[in-house]
Amino acid sequence: MSSNRPLLRLVPDPGSAEPVPQVSFCGHCGQAPPTPMAPLARVCARCGLGVVISAGADVAPRKGEAFVIVDRQLKLCGLSRGAERVLGVDEPEAVHRHVSDFLEPADAEAGQGDELLQSIIAGAAIGGAEPRNIVVRPTGEYGVRYAARVGSCGPPEGALIVLGTV
Ligand SMILES: [Zn+2]
Repeated sequence: MSSNRPLLRLVPDPGSAEPVPQVSFCGHCGQAPPTPMAPLARVCARCGLGVVISAGADVAPRKGEAFVIVDRQLKLCGLSRGAERVLGVDEPEAVHRHVSDFLEPADAEAGQGDELLQSIIAGAAIGGAEPRNIVVRPTGEYGVRYAARVGSCGPPEGALIVLGTV
């Protein structure tokens, strides 16, 4: 076995830009987990309620931003404490319901634009999607708008929708 045989190396994908760093946050309170956290502990040590997940730093919630997590079937699988307030629903009642029950595109007349929003969310839920921005509102609430960032998060893989201020 020759010692100058090249080792296997990770070759950067020439087509891709700089990778965005992943950040961890709690799916309930939205805060970064305290470090160091026990490697196998996935429940947030701050609130004891949320599971810690990761997303790209360009999508992950910043302080005070509400967010929801949606699976590939476009059903809610989690929402932050802030999103419970914004959407007027508690997490146990919200999970497994379709995202369109809670959020709709703000710039479209009723019924239009839903497909676009849902295709963006479905794309992100598969994982590895480029973050997208879309203006949304709580379903049926006119006059309230959020600049939403939609990106991939996990595990498990899902779409993260962060409700930023417009
Ligand atoms: Zn927490």
